[in-house]
Amino acid sequence: PTMSSEADDHNSNTERLHFLLVPLMAQGHMIPMVDLARLLVAHGALVTFVTTPVNLARIQPIVDRAVAAALPIRFVELPFPATDVGLPDGCENCDLIPSMDLYLTFMKALSLLREPLEAYLRIPDPSRWPKPACIISDNIQYWTADVARALDIPRLIFHGPSCFYLLCYRLIDQNRAELEAEMEAASGKPIMLPGLPQPIQIRKHEVIPIWRLQPAWFELVEVLRMAGESADGVLINSFNELEPWYFERYHEVTGKTIWPVGPLSLYKEEFDAKATRGRASSIDQKLLFQWLDKQEDGSVVFISFGSISRNTKAQLVELGHGLEASGRPFIWVVKEASEGRVSGLSEWITEFEERVEGRGIVIKGWAPQTVILEHIAVGGFMTHCGWNSTLEAVAAGVVMATWPHFADQFLNEQLVVNVLKIGVAVGVEEPTTVGLENNKEEVVKVRREQVEKVLETLMAGGEEGEERRVRARELREKARMAMEEGGSSWEGLKDIINYVMKAEKEKDKSEKPAVLQEGVC
Ligand code: UDP
Repeated sequence: PTMSSEADDHNSNTERLHFLLVPLMAQGHMIPMVDLARLLVAHGALVTFVTTPVNLARIQPIVDRAVAAALPIRFVELPFPATDVGLPDGCENCDLIPSMDLYLTFMKALSLLREPLEAYLRIPDPSRWPKPACIISDNIQYWTADVARALDIPRLIFHGPSCFYLLCYRLIDQNRAELEAEMEAASGKPIMLPGLPQPIQIRKHEVIPIWRLQPAWFELVEVLRMAGESADGVLINSFNELEPWYFERYHEVTGKTIWPVGPLSLYKEEFDAKATRGRASSIDQKLLFQWLDKQEDGSVVFISFGSISRNTKAQLVELGHGLEASGRPFIWVVKEASEGRVSGLSEWITEFEERVEGRGIVIKGWAPQTVILEHIAVGGFMTHCGWNSTLEAVAAGVVMATWPHFADQFLNEQLVVNVLKIGVAVGVEEPTTVGLENNKEEVVKVRREQVEKVLETLMAGGEEGEERRVRARELREKARMAMEEGGSSWEGLKDIINYVMKAEKEKDKSEKPAVLQEGVC
């Protein structure tokens, strides 16, 4: 393992709390964890951030900035055992998993990080940082429970999805037998999820998700549940004002302290740094922003479906026609175009770009999403409702056309459309399967007319459209306040630090202060 950045202020470091961050290697989980690392440092903590070679390369600009600013963050690069478990070489991130069948194999590889992490923690530390006082790990990195136990420190879990989703998921799980029977009686039509203040519909794929159908998943689900139960607290990238009822109820049903710490995308930093959030962008940013600067305020639609979902060529073409017919300016992210797996796509896009020249921009690969959403010209976001994207839109005050693809995205859609009332549903009923290779069958789930119609409703939409925009702007202000000093999420982070400090002090009563010269385990 190597260290990529660290401050060497020995004296003051020994007094500081040291957090060990273990993210899930997926963009939607790594990006907010990197933000969290920098926020913790801004609150005076030391951070060791666990990553792997491919993932470290993606965030190299952030590492370089951390080094240049002498931030006390260590990026620890653990070798990822992809080929040992039968994954393709370099398959170190969820967005590189070829097919759904290999997800469990990926999870296995993650669990094998335990040994190299423990070995790293045993290496004598030249800068004499105190041993970690707390692990913050992604909910999926269940094996960190054992590491925390070995270090005798608290472990907090970081959840990727919204509190709304977490509560709904729990309710579904608790009432699964009744819901399955009800679903059967309703012949597969959506049914209401009881126990919530708003009418929330659930569908078959939410009640009977993939792991219910494949026994191989049972064990993992159980292990995750147990690791969740043994956690000392929960961090959620959200803010209390967005989903207060859900925060309160989730706390009641789990009996755990739930700390809101977001929107983490609002962590203040320079434009250039924000633009490389996650990885380097695939477009000339200068040209992109020159174009955006010329557009009318609130007129541009941004279309992007996150890092994992993949669409068929037929679906992408259909979407493209819808955008063309809408007559609105747009920025469309087509990550499939950068991967060379969809035959004929590049050619089609080249022709499409010619037809929409001046009015539309296609980004073939990775977009600087947060800075695009925050630009004044951007008024609407067609999104897959991944939680980060959803929250980034909320933080930017942008209304959404919701096109969920899989997992929590269908429930997030309902939060956006029915609870927060800042979005319009495109009208997708079923999930799109995940995996790089799932774009072989030419499935079309959304027609061009639907795209055109939803954009009209979203970007114009008369009085209702205006009300949605007003609500979105109000939420943006609340989001900002939550992250300001004294705001709810700012207090959340402070509270975490106080909690860990107290846990350390209590331990100190029984043992010597932990400045270990011969490793930290
Ligand atoms: N993202 C980005 N550029 C892209 C695609 C995604 O910056 O071209 C970021 C996006 O801003 C978000 C994350 O990647 O922070 C995706 O997370 P989300 O939960 O929205 O979706 P997932 O990728 O997990 O499906």
